[in-house]
Amino acid sequence: MDNPKFFVTSIERGAYHDGPGLRTVVFFQGCPLHCAWCCNPETQPFRPVLLHEGKRCVACGNCVPHCPQQALSLREGRLHVDRAQCISCGRCVPVCPGGAYSLSSEIMSSEEILAVVMKDADYYRATGGGLTLSGGEPLCQRGVEVLLFQAKQANLTTCVETTAALSYKVLESVLPYVDYFYIDLKHSDRDILLRETGADLDLVTSNIGKLMDKGANVTLRTAVIPWYNDDLSTLRSIFHLALALGVTTYVLLPFHQLGRAKYAKLGRPYTLEHLKTLTPEDVSEAASLGRQMGLDVRIGG
Ligand code: SF4
Ligand code: SF4
Repeated sequence: MDNPKFFVTSIERGAYHDGPGLRTVVFFQGCPLHCAWCCNPETQPFRPVLLHEGKRCVACGNCVPHCPQQALSLREGRLHVDRAQCISCGRCVPVCPGGAYSLSSEIMSSEEILAVVMKDADYYRATGGGLTLSGGEPLCQRGVEVLLFQAKQANLTTCVETTAALSYKVLESVLPYVDYFYIDLKHSDRDILLRETGADLDLVTSNIGKLMDKGANVTLRTAVIPWYNDDLSTLRSIFHLALALGVTTYVLLPFHQLGRAKYAKLGRPYTLEHLKTLTPEDVSEAASLGRQMGLDVRIGG
């Protein structure tokens, strides 16, 4: 597989929070988990999905006859998308005069991705930056090891943001080409973790342990979510787990609602609007606790 193809939801140039230096972050379609606080919900399904932006829609009905699935209809002056019928063919996208539609991802080859990434090659050299793979779960993409290999050939530093909720064989296949792993440790209670995210704690921790045994550079990250894991006893337990796995580099991510508008575009309910967004100050006590326990804790992206 010389030039594998991927479902890419977006490419963000000039990022400073997803690994060292200036980075280009490539977001991929598809994730095995279903966290309610996900800020990229369009990346969760393993196929492209249709987004419809209500404020761009003037309910002209122009799109309705173009849908081969009869998924579109006007009801009481509003456009309705029957998500169960939509096959993400994209035929409605170009016919909307307001540009209300888009598909969540497009197919890009590794060559096409790297052509975008290399536009900032001078900045990577100056800052130690490079390519970060994110998502979704980037390691669910077939051929991702080829993309990472090609990035190393181009002298880029590589970072992978992963759930680690997948077979170790996949992690092993990319290990030679990854400089930095950013892995989510969302909870220390296996039942809560499974119920709220779908992740198997034993699988995640086993994978982290194996990566540490291989000398991988692992940073653990916890999104601090008010009803889920923000109390100090839960965070203490998560930090203990990290230390037991031999990881000392830690990032706390305060809860935010920046992805909220995307849920409306996907026709999905956003279930966390009642929760208070957190500031760095709100998680400073937790960060201090982690530092007292021996972790190198940073707050932020
Ligand atoms: S993407 Fe295709 S199937 Fe889905 S609503 Fe648009 S035209 Fe219909
Ligand atoms: S064509 Fe665009 S503006 Fe018109 S009803 Fe369809 S989505 Fe709305």
